[in-house]
Amino acid sequence: MLQNKAGNQLSLYQGYTFYCLHTNKSGTKKVWACTNKSQGCRARFHLLQDSYIIKCQSQHSHKAPKFVIRDVQIIRTHLGKEQVLYDGYTYYCNVTSANGWKKYWRCTRGGGSGCCAARLHLSQDYKVMKIINEHRHPPPRFIIRNGVYTKIG
Ligand SMILES: [Zn+2]
Ligand SMILES: [Zn+2]
Repeated sequence: MLQNKAGNQLSLYQGYTFYCLHTNKSGTKKVWACTNKSQGCRARFHLLQDSYIIKCQSQHSHKAPKFVIRDVQIIRTHLGKEQVLYDGYTYYCNVTSANGWKKYWRCTRGGGSGCCAARLHLSQDYKVMKIINEHRHPPPRFIIRNGVYTKIG
């Protein structure tokens, strides 16, 4: 789960971080504002049911933050499957070594011909041992809420 130092939930969209500015009474509609709002950035988006962007103001007054998530984050899809998030991309485990000490993860866009060949090799305790970081697509857009990963857009 992506959190800032204050423990607030953040979302990552087009390389920028957003925080939840407003939720309607029934909780179905949320407004997410750029974390640079206090510095005058007016970028924001309106999200319906945590899944659909219905309105988007994507003009930022600044460049995308130069942060990179270097640690592997363990996430869960809405189907309850375990995936990991690394550097903005998501991976699923496709092979575990015979002794269980090493796991091989593929980009979630991988599999089949012409798909993404990026891979991650992780140790048992999710330390990165090897990266094949050759994605053929932009990172997915997503929101992590209560530890559950939801693709948006
Ligand atoms: Zn901004
Ligand atoms: Zn990929």
